[in-house]
Amino acid sequence: MSNAVSDTVPSRIKPVLGHDNKWWWDQAAAGQLVIQRCTSCQQLRHPPRPMCNHCQSMDWDYIQASGKGIICSYTVLHHPKFPGYDYPLVIILVDLEEGTRFTSQLIDCDPDAVDFGMAVEMVMQKDADGFQLPVFKLASN
Ligand SMILES: [Zn+2]
Repeated sequence: MSNAVSDTVPSRIKPVLGHDNKWWWDQAAAGQLVIQRCTSCQQLRHPPRPMCNHCQSMDWDYIQASGKGIICSYTVLHHPKFPGYDYPLVIILVDLEEGTRFTSQLIDCDPDAVDFGMAVEMVMQKDADGFQLPVFKLASN
């Protein structure tokens, strides 16, 4: 009877990790939000992929993101309910201040209060099993 609750709550579906994205999730696991950057033309891109779609270079590194951005689009999901998320789920498209876009979840916010143009900041959400996922909350100022 001791830890029956945590044993029965289904955990979040984990991303499929491969050569092209595992490095990014390793950074998230270390608490860092990073953005892949083409080292030939300096274009930022997310999600991670092997080739730059501007100059076709396969050379890249990454930069540390501030985690600050603006909501440029959002949707509120009621169904289907994926395990490991609280519903209704507010999915946001964030314009990061570095100049690329990032799809994530907005937490600690009434879905009816969400609007375009709101300032948000990244918080690293840690699941009970240790998995870390960058999500956003409304910026504090
Ligand atoms: Zn490029």
